[in-house]
Amino acid sequence: MEEQCTVYKAVVSENRTLISAETPIVYVDDQQQSHVGIFRQGLKMETTQQEVVEIERIKFCLDDNEQPILGSFQCPKVRKTGEIALISPDQVVDQLCLIHDCANGKCAFKESEITIMVEREKVTRVKFTYVHDREHNFYLINKFYLGESLKYFNFA
Ligand SMILES: [Zn+2]
Repeated sequence: MEEQCTVYKAVVSENRTLISAETPIVYVDDQQQSHVGIFRQGLKMETTQQEVVEIERIKFCLDDNEQPILGSFQCPKVRKTGEIALISPDQVVDQLCLIHDCANGKCAFKESEITIMVEREKVTRVKFTYVHDREHNFYLINKFYLGESLKYFNFA
């Protein structure tokens, strides 16, 4: 059976901030345990008026002793799982800031040549763009973001 639903590109978190699509978030499960995810979209079922939030699960990278692995600036390292989960809008607690773990990826400035027209002559210019290694699914939680991003997690 198919159900019609309305798609929302933003959700309001528990602490009243507006969270837009692709924003990293903190959410809680039924046991009030905090987790990291990326907000994808909100859905409202037309018949039941039930609202759900679609997120991508983000996992902490743990060492052999189940302790979080820290990367640059002592920020915890996390991994995008590609797993989608559905939660209730009131489980969304706050937003987070994730920074790509460029140090361990193949992110780099790429040089490319572009041709532009100057005074009816073709001129070649070199352009530099920073390209992130999209295969490298690791990020760091910017613990300095808004002062205290890690307060939701036990190890902070
Ligand atoms: Zn990068």
